[in-house]
Amino acid sequence: MEYRRLGKSGLKVSALSFGSWVTFGNQVDVDKAVGCMTAAYDAGVNFFDNAEGYAGGQSEIVMGETLKRVGWRRDSYVVSSKVFFGSQSNPTPTQRGLSRKHVVEACHQALERLQLDYLDLYFCHRPDPETPIEETVRAMTELILRGDVLYWGTSEWSAQEIMEAYSVAREHHLIPPTMEQPQYHLFHRKRVEDEYSRLYEGIGMGTTIWSPLASGLLSGKYNNGIPQDSRLMLPGYEWLKQMMESETWQKRLVAVRELATVADEIGTTLPRLAIAWCLKNPHVSTVITGASRSEQVVENMAAMDVVPLLTDDVMAKIDSVVSTAPIS
Ligand code: NDP
Repeated sequence: MEYRRLGKSGLKVSALSFGSWVTFGNQVDVDKAVGCMTAAYDAGVNFFDNAEGYAGGQSEIVMGETLKRVGWRRDSYVVSSKVFFGSQSNPTPTQRGLSRKHVVEACHQALERLQLDYLDLYFCHRPDPETPIEETVRAMTELILRGDVLYWGTSEWSAQEIMEAYSVAREHHLIPPTMEQPQYHLFHRKRVEDEYSRLYEGIGMGTTIWSPLASGLLSGKYNNGIPQDSRLMLPGYEWLKQMMESETWQKRLVAVRELATVADEIGTTLPRLAIAWCLKNPHVSTVITGASRSEQVVENMAAMDVVPLLTDDVMAKIDSVVSTAPIS
C-alpha cells in the first residue's frame, strides 16, 4: 500500500480506502463487514468512510460494531462521517443541513453509533444554501477545538464555495477545510481535473474521491444485464437502477466493454484498471472503494499493482475509448 498526505495536512491516508455507502446496513451485516474491513485493513487500508445518512445511521452502527469486534488499535486507522442529509428518513428542519445545531448534534450521534471518542475526518456532505458558510466553519472549528473531530472537509462543494470557506476561516482565525470528497471516475472528471485545479496548490486541498467504479458500472458486472444480488436490486435504490438504464449509462456500457479489452491487453481486470486510473491522478489523496463482499475488496486492492502498467500509451488509449477528458 502507498500512503499519501491528505492535502497539505500531516495526515497520511492509504491511497486506497474503504467506504460503506449502500452496502453496510443493507447488503452487509456485521459478520460480512468484519470480512470486508479486515480484507481492506490487511491490504494496508487505514481509512474507512461513513456518513450519517448511510442506511439511516445503520451503516455507522455496523462499522462501530465491526471496529469493536476486530479490536484494532485506534491510532492505526482513520474514520470519517458526513453531515447534511440527516439520519432519519424524514428529517425535521433541525435534523438536517449545516446549521451549527445539526453539525454539532450529528457529530455526537455519529460518535455514539460508531462507538468512538472522536472522528478523524468530518465532511459537510453537500453545501447548504440556507446556512451561512461562516456558521458552518465556526461549528467545525469548535468541534476540532473540543477534540471531537481532527480534520474537517467538504463533499461536492463547488470550487467557489470551498474558497469561501477557506477565506472565511482565514479572516476570522478559524480552521479551514482540509479536504474535499468529490465523485471521480472515468466518466466523471471535470470537477477534479479542471474546476478544482487551482485549489490543490493554492490552498493545499486534499481529495478523498468516491465511486471509482461508477457505482459498479466499471467493474463490468452490468455488461450483460443487472445481477440479482447487486446494489441496483435493493429496495430504496430504484433511482440508481433507473440511472443505470438511462441512455447515457447504456452508452457508457459500450465504452466499458471496450475498456475490458484494454485491461486484457495489459494483463489485468477491468475493476483494477478503473481504480488504478484514479490512483494515477496525483491530486487524489485516496480512492474510496466500495464492496459488498470480501472477494471484491481483495480484487480492488490489487489495483495498486496496476498503476505502473498505465503508461502514457495506455492512458491515451483509455482516453480515446471513454472520450471524457475535460477541455479546460
Ligand atoms: P464503487 O463505484 O467502487 O462501487 C462499489 C460497488 O461496485 C460495490 O458495492 C459492488 O456492487 C461493485 N463492485 C466493487 N468492486 C467490485 C468488483 N471487484 N467486482 C464486481 N463488482 C464490484 O464505489 P461506491 O459507489 O460504493 O463509492 C465508494 C464509497 O465512496 C462509498 O462507500 C462511500 O463511502 C463514498 N461515497 C461518497 C459519496 C459522497 O457524496 N460523498 C457518494 C457515494 C459514495 P454490488 O454491491 O452491487 O456487488
